[in-house]
Amino acid sequence: MNASRSQTGGSAERPEPIDAALVICGHGSHLNPDSSAPVYDHAARLREEGDFAEVREAFWKEEPSLRNALRTVESEDVIVVPLFTSEGYFTEGVIPRELRLDGGGNSDDGEDSADGDWSGAGSSDAADGLDVRKRVWYADPVGTHSSMTDAIVARAERIAENPDVGPETGLAVIGHGTERNPKSAKATRDHAARIRERDRFAASEALFMDQEPFVENVLERFDAQRIVAVPLFIADGFHTREEIPELLGLAGEFPDYENPSTVEGREIRYAGAVGTDPSFASVIAERAREAFAGPADVDDRPSGLGSRSPDRDEDGSETETSEAESEVQAARGAFLKHVEREIDANGAASWGELLLSVDGEAGSEEEGNTDEPRTYELRHADDEDVDAASLEEHTDPSDAKSIARFDDEGEYRPLKSAPTLAHGWRLVGLDSRDLYRAVSGFYPASIANWYREQRGTLDVTHYAETAARQTGMYDPVDELEGKALDRAAEACCADDVCLKRRVWESGETDDSGEDSGDTDSEGRAIDAPPGDGKIPCREPCSLFIAAAREFALAEREEAKDSGGRPRDSETEHTTLTETDRETLDAILAGLDDREGVESVRPGEASDPRNHYRVRYLRAKLRDLDGEEPNTDDRATTTETASSSGGGD
Ligand code: SF4
Repeated sequence: MNASRSQTGGSAERPEPIDAALVICGHGSHLNPDSSAPVYDHAARLREEGDFAEVREAFWKEEPSLRNALRTVESEDVIVVPLFTSEGYFTEGVIPRELRLDGGGNSDDGEDSADGDWSGAGSSDAADGLDVRKRVWYADPVGTHSSMTDAIVARAERIAENPDVGPETGLAVIGHGTERNPKSAKATRDHAARIRERDRFAASEALFMDQEPFVENVLERFDAQRIVAVPLFIADGFHTREEIPELLGLAGEFPDYENPSTVEGREIRYAGAVGTDPSFASVIAERAREAFAGPADVDDRPSGLGSRSPDRDEDGSETETSEAESEVQAARGAFLKHVEREIDANGAASWGELLLSVDGEAGSEEEGNTDEPRTYELRHADDEDVDAASLEEHTDPSDAKSIARFDDEGEYRPLKSAPTLAHGWRLVGLDSRDLYRAVSGFYPASIANWYREQRGTLDVTHYAETAARQTGMYDPVDELEGKALDRAAEACCADDVCLKRRVWESGETDDSGEDSGDTDSEGRAIDAPPGDGKIPCREPCSLFIAAAREFALAEREEAKDSGGRPRDSETEHTTLTETDRETLDAILAGLDDREGVESVRPGEASDPRNHYRVRYLRAKLRDLDGEEPNTDDRATTTETASSSGGGD
């Protein structure tokens, strides 16, 4: 581990800052905000230390998504570090695929290319798949780095409240373990072995939840009177908070386990995931530095840097943009012009649920007054008339990320475009760069994708392609098609549940194998309102995919129950009567208003009371009744989009 970092208490000279962006990739969760907390915390620490040009977060299960991460990075050079404990499904498959480091996700035969070997990512074929003009260094996961061993020992010292803990104490390194991925256990064993070699502790052993040697046999594995147990997990959750303490036999019950506990006359000390320890930031930095010292894995920078090409502005005028100019810089400039125009016309601008206004009046940068440029204020649009003194004031644009994580009731918001942004705050004194950062904190990648749409270069991935990319438990989502897919889009993507405007379509082909839509890739147009928002949604998000899985499984079940015949043609015995339907619809309408379903979160797609599922069933009942969905919204939006040159 780099001993120069303050968290580790070292005093060696600080290393030179790296002129590259660091993107820390985590798993994230639709349900557990603690899953992404270490990524945010370590990113904030590393940002503070200033060793990288930028530090960004990206997630598989929440926003900012892996899919959009690279286009929000300003630097030309990017180091991607997976915050995972070992190599495996995510680090070798999902992350390179979603970042398009592996050439875009699917091989020619349509099979998922996440085969655990992405060593060809630096080839020219692979570079073709990258959706930004950057060089990318893709690091190994932090969990396998040798300095991780130091982080485990540092964690043990904290747990033992003794910097010299050692000879009298056994150190248990606890991993999840799974027979399906031997690399998972190997990382845990490697760290335990390195600690053994140091001859500091009475013993050091790797224990596992899902394979031998098991955590519950901890007392058999150690002779020492005192045992410190360190879980090799990135984030705290069910495993570290409930399961492992129980397996260790700690006294008491969740959440009040006694710690330390006396178990059969011996002392066991335990603390949460090692990934939450402040010293972990040093491991991330070390991993990034090592990766950056080697050759880039993908180089997709344009040839002829510095050449100039015409670009088209929001109002249709032609401007010149350097090929070398960062797309982020160009997007920021276009966004600022857009905001200025709205402010000049209406006194304020809007973006999702945000209200953007001027709070420092001295002429705009656009007008050439760059000595004293305007500063801006952001607040919730509903708070427009609220006295500023009664709003909580923030000046750091990165506070947007923490404000955006929870709603007014403190419920976690995995979907940042849900119309549930918390009220009662304002961000002030933002210059144009801060404004961009803050808005991107509330709505990740929204400006980048809006800008691409304005230029006519937005890359849209339609449902069929996204569905074909899914593996594991999400494999069934490619069965969702036709009316069922329409209902899913209506249930999940309408304006009252998501403020983004869906621009992806079904991608379905007709029986002849030919696309039946307007373009080769979008296929059949989805029969559901796309929404009216400014922010385009270019690909089904992970929450949509999670809900789509439930819908697909339900449709599969129904087909089985009815022998494959449509529900409409079933006998009276299995068909809802008119009265039944009216009653059910009324109940569902009540649930749709969230009465009685407040405790079911959007990410709990497997719960039958889930909001998306209720909405889906309502749409299905309407379809069974032969009623038409309301398509007025679609017509209006399409008209608006085409007349404004991109849906703004
Ligand atoms: S897929 Fe639907 S729910 Fe998800 S971000 Fe896009 S529009 Fe919103």
